[in-house]
Amino acid sequence: MREFAFELELCAALEERRDAIVARQLGASVADPGGRILDVALVEPGPAFGQRTSMTAAAVPDAAIEADVGPGRWTYWKDAFDCHPERARSAADRAVEIEFFERERRRGREYVRQVARYPDWIGRIVGIENKPDLRSPGDLVDQLRTDVSLALVDEAVLATESYVTGAHLNRIPEEVGVWRIQRGGGELPEIEIVREPTPLAVDEPGIEPLAARPGRTDIGVVSAAEKARARRRLAERAYGKGWRTYEVPACGACELARVGKGATGDATHVDGDGTTEDATHPEGDGTTEDATHVGGEGAPFTSADGAVPATLPYCTWKGRVVDAASECGPDCPGYELAEPPAVDRDAERDARTPWVADPSGAHRRQAGLDRFGSG
Ligand code: SF4
Repeated sequence: MREFAFELELCAALEERRDAIVARQLGASVADPGGRILDVALVEPGPAFGQRTSMTAAAVPDAAIEADVGPGRWTYWKDAFDCHPERARSAADRAVEIEFFERERRRGREYVRQVARYPDWIGRIVGIENKPDLRSPGDLVDQLRTDVSLALVDEAVLATESYVTGAHLNRIPEEVGVWRIQRGGGELPEIEIVREPTPLAVDEPGIEPLAARPGRTDIGVVSAAEKARARRRLAERAYGKGWRTYEVPACGACELARVGKGATGDATHVDGDGTTEDATHPEGDGTTEDATHVGGEGAPFTSADGAVPATLPYCTWKGRVVDAASECGPDCPGYELAEPPAVDRDAERDARTPWVADPSGAHRRQAGLDRFGSG
């Protein structure tokens, strides 16, 4: 559970301090899909990032990007896809839904075309593995070795709360950067760079370990083209998903912690060791130090200087951020049935990051394309 709070706080800090899309829990393997999940990914904006933000707030399906569909001509949808018909149908429908494609019916057949060409928007990708406590490393070293040998991300980083010794650094692949995360005090965590990462060879083939048996490890060789496609898939998922995928507990002990720029008074409630100085959190009326529940109806809290803090699901009974999906419910001794506090995740993400919740550019481009007719 400590790792969950660590991860959300780190995401909130990165989103505020780095010009990047921040997302969590993303697949980062190619030969064995699902075999490697990144805790956190940073996707830095590439040259055409503005075109991407004006396209759609959602992830564009990989099959739709790969499809033989351009922006200037209508294509019979079945001719456009080179994948299983069900996957093609679902990708085409989703692409229309998110306005990456538009469709038209002619003589009973459905034709599609891109609303705008898919842009070159992906810059560097940083993969971060969270291991708050290095005394219980689990599969850490194997995971980091996979990241280095596959080189799907431009940089691999280990984030920890532990004091990092020379022995730790010797065990971790030398290409992996190391951050020490200092949490507590009701603020976003401080990030101390213990070791800078070495850029990985993303444009070359990679080696992905698949299964280890005594004396033998099976591997997959992944081509540069497969990696490029997997990087785009990862970046698209990061763009659509972000990191606010947490649930808010439907429990009277849940309050919303505000952290980062724009957070006021002691309403931040974030302590690295699971303790809190203020476990009572009297209800605020919008004028007190307690910013929790200010804003109403899930609107993001905005401070006097216009900054929007990040919201985290905080439990006053446990005195820390909680993972409602695994920790909350009638089995918890502190549980008290209540409506979960409302959070407008999209409005908050839009205000704090380069992601755009409600792009309108697609409609403008469509109007422009229509001048060229539909034939
Ligand atoms: S951990 Fe228990 S007390 Fe805290 S919000 Fe969840 S259910 Fe409620």
